[in-house]
Amino acid sequence: MENDSKNIILQVKNLHKSYGSGENEVVALNGVDLEIYEGELFVILGSSGSGKSTLLNMIGGMDAPSSGSVIFRGREISRFKDRELTNYRKNCIGFIFQSFNLIGELTVRENVALVANTKKNPHIVDDMLDLMGLSEKKKKYPSQLSGGQQQRVAIARALAGDADLLLCDEPTGALDYETGKQILKQLETLSREHHKTIIIVTHTKEIAQMGDRVITVKDGKITNMYVNDNPVSAERINW
Ligand code: ADP
Ligand code: MG
Repeated sequence: MENDSKNIILQVKNLHKSYGSGENEVVALNGVDLEIYEGELFVILGSSGSGKSTLLNMIGGMDAPSSGSVIFRGREISRFKDRELTNYRKNCIGFIFQSFNLIGELTVRENVALVANTKKNPHIVDDMLDLMGLSEKKKKYPSQLSGGQQQRVAIARALAGDADLLLCDEPTGALDYETGKQILKQLETLSREHHKTIIIVTHTKEIAQMGDRVITVKDGKITNMYVNDNPVSAERINW
């Protein structure tokens, strides 16, 4: 996609995050600047401990930065009141974790319904479950599903909240190779056919080939950024 014709959905400005203090201080982010364009598939690549999850958590409003700002559609999220922040997490952002993070006591359908924006579309829960190929599994509990199916529930949940921006933290990390590939294909379809804006965090450089743009993070800093004119389809990626 042409960058110059695109709208910015999210900006990160001079973001710093430290954990602990004094001798125990860990600098997880050390001055990160980036812009995410509407509709792009953006990959954050970096080895374990480089600060990827911290960056995603700041973007998703799950935790506050030490300094710097995260600006979503022109509004700084650190200025949000509690209710706005809850709303942001629930309806603007869809989080997909390595560990699925489903609620074990709730059925598939109930898990997705938790965040569903039924005001906008009363059928959204079933529509998203159908889209993710889970029509037959609605009454099952997460423990009755395979890892790949659980991750598809998590994606359906993210979509049912009507998220503009999907944040995927190592979404294939807990899955076997083939299942992981299917999940990447599904994310690719959401990007290419449904024009969702998607950020994928990974430590696997081959997976980064599917991104429209890729940044590399090291020691809490961006060390490289490139635009991928010919993203490789998930199907053709091997790692
Ligand atoms: P990645 O996702 O790339 O593996 P993280 O963002 O999880 O990296 O971590 C970046 C650095 O911050 C690491 O050194 C990690 O140990 C540290 N860190 C992350 N979360 C915490 C926390 N809650 N408390 C203390 N240190 C943390
Ligand atoms: Mg991580």
